[in-house]
Amino acid sequence: MELVYDYPLYRPPSESQSLIFQVTLGCSFNKCSFCNMYRTKEYSERSSDEIDREIDLMASYFPDTKRIFLADGDALNLETTKLIHILSKIRKEFKNLERISSYSMPKNLLEKSYDELESLKKAGLDMVYLGIESGNNTVLKKVTKGATSKMIVDSCKKAKDTGFILSCMIILGLGGKNYSKVHAEDTSKVINEIEPDYIGALTLYMEPDIEQEFYTKFKEPFIPLDDLGVLDELNNLINGITVTGNVIFRANHASNVYSIGGTLPKNKTDILQKIGYLKEHPELLKPKMLRRF
Ligand code: SF4
Repeated sequence: MELVYDYPLYRPPSESQSLIFQVTLGCSFNKCSFCNMYRTKEYSERSSDEIDREIDLMASYFPDTKRIFLADGDALNLETTKLIHILSKIRKEFKNLERISSYSMPKNLLEKSYDELESLKKAGLDMVYLGIESGNNTVLKKVTKGATSKMIVDSCKKAKDTGFILSCMIILGLGGKNYSKVHAEDTSKVINEIEPDYIGALTLYMEPDIEQEFYTKFKEPFIPLDDLGVLDELNNLINGITVTGNVIFRANHASNVYSIGGTLPKNKTDILQKIGYLKEHPELLKPKMLRRF
């Protein structure tokens, strides 16, 4: 038995084994110039009745489900009461559940009060995935992210204070050659302020259908980083991360030049050494044809 999904359907790589309920369709913002995930969809919210029926159905087929991911792009945009209803229903029907998670934009978290977020946590939401993309305000503006670094830091702190497990994404090469240094420096600073539980680094890879829009919105010639430039940027980023708690860092996405990861600060030296080694051995990097976003 399968759910009938409204495609395209996205979920973080770490949710590959999760059961997915689409509680919203598309992205309520849908304007980031580097992202074409939901360009074919208009944002909408599914009715509680429909979602309830799907939860009942799936609970009868997969009662032992351990993880559930709420799609699409920003399920946290839902009214808090509606989201609490969905979370409570899921918790009631799936007795062996370990985790419920969803994507969130900075604005979703900022628009909710601490009380609302705590109610969502209590109702069963455990984890949120949030795209930082860059900590540099110029880069954020040029890629029309719709958030400043302060908004990103404030929203992530709110998520952490509430007790959510926080997984953040950043994009290597997002500012191109001209902004590589400040992109790395400011992204490290933001990570240091937030100390998320997980950081996932992707590498900029644009689908042809959004390339022109990205360049136009960038408002100056965009000089893409080559592979060594990406490794330099990653080196600067890791070098600038001075977190004190355990932050699990992964650059193992399909878009990356090589799969690198570890726990910061413990494995910082190892990661930097690996980057240095790869710079000397570019023949080890993943062939371009195997990379995608
Ligand atoms: S990156 Fe996230 S917020 Fe931006 S358009 Fe894509 S799904 Fe929406």
